[in-house]
Amino acid sequence: MKELRKMIVVLLAVLMIGGLCIPQTEAEAASTVKIVYKNKTKKYSRKKNSVYINGKKKGISKVPTFYKEGCYVGPASTIFKTKGLGVTYKDKSHKTLTLTCNNHQVVMTNGKVNALVDGKEVVWDTAPIYAKYKSSGQKRWIVPLKDVSLALGLGYKVAKNVVWIAKAPEPAPAAPATKSKVVVVLDAGHGGSDSGAKGNGNYEKTMTLKILLAAKAYFDKDPRFQVYYTRTGDTYPSLEDRYKLANKVNADVFISIHINSFKATSTGTETLLSRDRNEKTRKGNISSADLALVMHKGAVASTGFMDRGLVNRPNLKVLKFTNMPACLIEYGFISNRTECIKMNAGLNKYGKSLYDSLVAFMKSKGRIS
Ligand SMILES: [Zn+2]
Repeated sequence: MKELRKMIVVLLAVLMIGGLCIPQTEAEAASTVKIVYKNKTKKYSRKKNSVYINGKKKGISKVPTFYKEGCYVGPASTIFKTKGLGVTYKDKSHKTLTLTCNNHQVVMTNGKVNALVDGKEVVWDTAPIYAKYKSSGQKRWIVPLKDVSLALGLGYKVAKNVVWIAKAPEPAPAAPATKSKVVVVLDAGHGGSDSGAKGNGNYEKTMTLKILLAAKAYFDKDPRFQVYYTRTGDTYPSLEDRYKLANKVNADVFISIHINSFKATSTGTETLLSRDRNEKTRKGNISSADLALVMHKGAVASTGFMDRGLVNRPNLKVLKFTNMPACLIEYGFISNRTECIKMNAGLNKYGKSLYDSLVAFMKSKGRIS
């Protein structure tokens, strides 16, 4: 009797667990897809059996789109060969895939995150692959849909859980009014409890703030810019606060203002950047190296100090974790008495020069008129 009761309990438990599991498994199966690539089968989630192209729903249940490494991916031929998109499709024996549209060209290599867009190398989050949909047995180039669409000048969005791709309307001729504001995060180094370098009776935090406030006076009057400041008083935002602000507002550039310190004889202006992340942080035609060079030249011209050049400092947090072109200017040495006196007399000028340099830079890049 005892044994029988035990068996019933076990049986009930099995049934209950089974009962709970079945709907879950079904739901999971409904939204996952198995892909065979290089003889390995992998399961992916967020399967979608349709895609909207030029506003029209297209059923793709045999070769659905799905989510892979942070991107929606889908069958390149089924989607991009759709009439009306105007994409030319060239598959070279499943090794490379070249798509051309709107005078743009994308060359993808099977299994490589590096692609060529208009002849320039870019790195995507997920690699295009030539692979098989396990359930239907169909083989396709499966490519990141947003990256490819944008590279080809096509419209792309994910709305109501569906991927939309469309032949974007002809771009309007560039007019100042239609250009979006340049978003800048300007950072005055140190502050509050962190005085930064000290020397010759001066605090770095006070000097960096003066430069920032001088630049702010110009930026705030200029409708072409939307500038966020990590601080405008004697406060201490953490390094994390600083780069997080820049990432949150999706800044076009991040510029940090500092004063150097070493020996009493040390001299000169230098600008730090992360060369290692130059491509990763690139935004359109602007890279950290471009930004750093122009801002550095402006800073050297305004200080009149020795040009110490650009310095690769990949481990500084504000250069390591910012997702956009970023640089950090060290105007001069607080530890050098002569330089410190000159700096104190020139802080307002440095701020104006920072503003002027960024305006000239953004003009040269076609971001503002
Ligand atoms: Zn500093």
